[in-house]
Amino acid sequence: MAGMDKSKIGGGKNRGEKGLFEKVWTLANHRGFVFPSAEIYGGIAGIYDLGPLGAKMKNNLIQAWREFFVLRETNPPVYELDGSTILPYDALKASGHLDSFTDPTVSCLKCKKWMRADHLIEDSLGMYVEGMTPEELTKIIRENNLVCPDCRGGLSDVSVFNLMLGVQVGPAGGQIAFLRPETAQDIFLDFKRVQQSMRAKLPFGIAQIGKSYRNEISPRQGLIRVREFTQMEIEMFVHPKEIGNHPSFDKVKDVKIRILTREQQKKGETEPMEMTATEAQEKKILPNPYMAYYLAKETIFYQSLGIPYDKFHFRHMMPEETPFYSGGNFDLEVELSIGRKEIIGNAYRTNYDLSNHMKKSGKDLSISIDGEKVIPEVVEPSFGVERAIYCVLEHCYREDDGRGWSWFQFPPKIAPITALILPLVRKEPLMEISFKTYENLKENGLDVDYDDRGSVGKRYARADEIGIPFCVTIDYDTTKANTVTIRDRDSREQAFINKDDLVGIILKLVSGVIQFGDLL
Ligand code: AMP
Repeated sequence: MAGMDKSKIGGGKNRGEKGLFEKVWTLANHRGFVFPSAEIYGGIAGIYDLGPLGAKMKNNLIQAWREFFVLRETNPPVYELDGSTILPYDALKASGHLDSFTDPTVSCLKCKKWMRADHLIEDSLGMYVEGMTPEELTKIIRENNLVCPDCRGGLSDVSVFNLMLGVQVGPAGGQIAFLRPETAQDIFLDFKRVQQSMRAKLPFGIAQIGKSYRNEISPRQGLIRVREFTQMEIEMFVHPKEIGNHPSFDKVKDVKIRILTREQQKKGETEPMEMTATEAQEKKILPNPYMAYYLAKETIFYQSLGIPYDKFHFRHMMPEETPFYSGGNFDLEVELSIGRKEIIGNAYRTNYDLSNHMKKSGKDLSISIDGEKVIPEVVEPSFGVERAIYCVLEHCYREDDGRGWSWFQFPPKIAPITALILPLVRKEPLMEISFKTYENLKENGLDVDYDDRGSVGKRYARADEIGIPFCVTIDYDTTKANTVTIRDRDSREQAFINKDDLVGIILKLVSGVIQFGDLL
């Protein structure tokens, strides 16, 4: 957690196709997925708004996550929480964020620009400096005569900078508080309340989706490093004696996962090893079956978002990247054109947070089991939504299949718009039938759009460009035989179906019950 720049580690230098990031980012801006917040006033670096398409994609992604990681989970069950984003000083002092949620920073003595000292050294010298003290970093900067990359001015000594954003609460600003730097803390603070109100028995999880804030020194790479972002976190609470026994492990036991071990990293290897969740357990590569369960589920989930299996892996964090209390941290890293980026942090947080809050607050957060006071252990998967959205955009971006325009191959379940309804020509009764069809699909809960401007080819191109999986054309056959043409974005094949079957067919295509080929 605190202060670690895990998105950089393991990344190395830019790899992959040059300029892909710029292409995807430009298209995402242009088509309203994302743009700077308060843009007309110059905005704030590292703070973005999601536009109509980005907002829909985010909601779809969150819904898919909730279904897979929360709502369908039975044993252990996972409860939800919607905690506050403002937390008091004492809570964040106790959690360690006030003292150690920091990054090393350096400023240019000439142009006054602030930079991450570790980023500057890694980018200029390719050195790995995780875990080094400010003094050690200053020494490296001096010995290598590093200067400001923008104006070549001299640099200050390295100091530490706390990443939390403060707020003053109340009319006189009397109570000092902070915007939460992670959603996890609410869960620990509310643990006892949730346990009692739900009469929950160990093991059980508490999930929370919501905004977190970090005053990043140098926000960069679009949605990858921002100052306000959305996290989806689960704290899974387990009896310490039962941590070696996950009741539903069998469901994932054969799922293959890719892991880059510590031993491999020490040897300088970058290609992860493939093993099943069971093998990872038996070989003691993972600390417990709860961790294996989440890595397996994340592997399934990320593939369902359109990220190819061989483009991501879990990296066992090195000791210097891991908090002292951790029983093992495994980051899901995705290969992007801008390097390997951490998208999920998985941590075995032991009982550190609950014990710490008990000590500092003086309140008993233990659970009484058979007369014994038990402080549960915790395994936590921590997902970042904005980073996931960027990964989906980049991995679903296509431009090389001869259609003459770039397009997104989003999986239907997260595509911002599921289908485009279009009349063949701007004439009645085709327009009216099209609009009614569009309304009918909307009433059935489908996220669809209507477009009657330009040639059919241009409308297909516009639909492809924002990743709409299906186009439904109403033509003169509709008036005669009640059939519509449904076009598949990926294969560009067309099928003719009865208009009355449209809702059912699209729902089946989105859920994967049928494939487009089944309609031909
Ligand atoms: P961490 O607590 O640093 O392990 O972060 C957990 C997850 O939150 C990461 O895997 C990211 O997906 C996300 N995250 C953390 N910091 C940022 C940031 N500055 N911008 C966007 N996402 C972030």
